[in-house]
Amino acid sequence: MSDEKQYDVVVLGAGIAGLTAAVRSQENGLSVALVEKTPAIGGSSAMSGGYMAFSGTEEQAAHGVVDSEDLFLADMQVVGQHMSDEKLLRAYLDSQTDTYRWLKAKGFGFRVLERSAGQTVARSHLSQIKDIVRSLADEFVAGGGDLLLDHRAVELVREAGSGGGGPRVTGVIVRGDDGVRTLSARAGVVLATGGFSRSEDLLRTFAPEQLAAIPYGGLGNTGDGLKMAWKLGAGLADMSYVSATYGSHPETTMEFHELLTAYYWGAIIVNTGGERFVDESQSYKLLGMAVLTQDQGLGFQVFDSKVRAKSEPGVPLADIDMLEDIGHVFSASTLPELAEKAGIDPVGLRATVDRYNAAIAAHGPDEQGRTGINSGVGDLLPIDAPPYYAYPAKALMTTTYCGVTVTPRSEVVDIDGDVIAGLYAIGEVTGGFHGAAYMTGTSLGKGAVFGSIVADVLAATVAVDANS
Ligand SMILES: Cc1cc2nc3c(=O)[nH]c(=O)nc-3n(C[C@H](O)[C@H](O)[C@H](O)COP(=O)(O)OP(=O)(O)OC[C@H]3O[C@@H](n4cnc5c(N)ncnc54)[C@H](O)[C@@H]3O)c2cc1C
Repeated sequence: MSDEKQYDVVVLGAGIAGLTAAVRSQENGLSVALVEKTPAIGGSSAMSGGYMAFSGTEEQAAHGVVDSEDLFLADMQVVGQHMSDEKLLRAYLDSQTDTYRWLKAKGFGFRVLERSAGQTVARSHLSQIKDIVRSLADEFVAGGGDLLLDHRAVELVREAGSGGGGPRVTGVIVRGDDGVRTLSARAGVVLATGGFSRSEDLLRTFAPEQLAAIPYGGLGNTGDGLKMAWKLGAGLADMSYVSATYGSHPETTMEFHELLTAYYWGAIIVNTGGERFVDESQSYKLLGMAVLTQDQGLGFQVFDSKVRAKSEPGVPLADIDMLEDIGHVFSASTLPELAEKAGIDPVGLRATVDRYNAAIAAHGPDEQGRTGINSGVGDLLPIDAPPYYAYPAKALMTTTYCGVTVTPRSEVVDIDGDVIAGLYAIGEVTGGFHGAAYMTGTSLGKGAVFGSIVADVLAATVAVDANS
């Protein structure tokens, strides 16, 4: 079966980026189709921790946090090792408040404010992300939008422009149980297809060492959007920085994602030999890279009762109570006993902790160059107050954070830097934003912010066309 239907905008992928673009385009008066490859909306967004990074918010003010766009920009540049496209970061900063208010106006609140790795001040706002994506999808359908679940976009349609204009993307071919059809898009096609954490072939091409990580992320995230744009000559950015996230138990499942970052409160990370191998205060993406080279890809977070006391029940990444309840944290009153239980070399662990504690006591240099508990901030804590704890964790291939090159207006550009007319990309399918590493909260944030930006760009395009 083949038929054709016409819209102003066709959005591919129903994660936070695609849903924001779809709903906001609808609010802007455009007709929209939202195509989702899997039977359910949400993608990686619905599986995520839910943190969104914004500055200048009511929550920051309520906690007395003094932040600014300049500080946020500087932090993102440091985390990204100055490899990000500054124009994209500035576009995010220019539009973040508008998007934050848009979400709040819909009744979405932020219940916790955290200072994540690389943030000079607390900037990660914890959202109820599952509710957000569900509610945006409901709003889209209630508003008359066409949501095509279980439909996979397979090819972009590009045609010669009318009146001597260059070629432009005019639609997309989608495949579902009901056959193959072309969806035409007067204003543009928006790629919001997420990353490629589930694509063995793309990982093998760009980051083969990462195949050792536990596969994770949205089941539909196999890089389809990236490949479709690539076929039309799109440029690619940040492809060499793909890294799994460190901190998940080896038995983490699709249904229940567990991640612990006790190292940001003072834990050390050791391998099965009991040796440290990395500066634990760095981004968990860089830790992910480091742990893949260790025996069994395993790193144990080792800490004492001082760190244990910092557990925050119910808060993702910080809930040691829950991890203990499900039997994933080892504990013992002595370090050798802990090592035996966890499967770490006892002699190695004892020697490592002794050296770590001695260096702290002597204010001497740390053997891994660690200068603070989290991104150089916070005094290091000796591991000396029993009971002792160990949480075994691996690297999880959650996200890829690289992809097609875009302008600050979310237009896809080709390898020469020229805009591919009619084609837009937002969210995790894009590259250039994070640079070498990602700051927690900036990916859901990026999806929502650029989803809003692209919707307004498309509305302006339609308005110009109507007036010409
Ligand atoms: C466990 C975990 C925890 C995380 N925690 C955080 C966090 O706290 N804060 C943060 O900022 N980021 C976090 N991230 C990262 C963040 O969730 C993602 O980067 C972000 O949600 C990506 O949003 P997206 O809309 O671009 O893609 P997704 O949400 O992945 O949506 C993409 C959608 O496109 C669909 N799709 C793919 N191909 C096609 C096709 N051919 N046709 C139609 N549809 C297609 C997919 O099925 C999917 O539903 C986390 C990720 C994971 C996995």
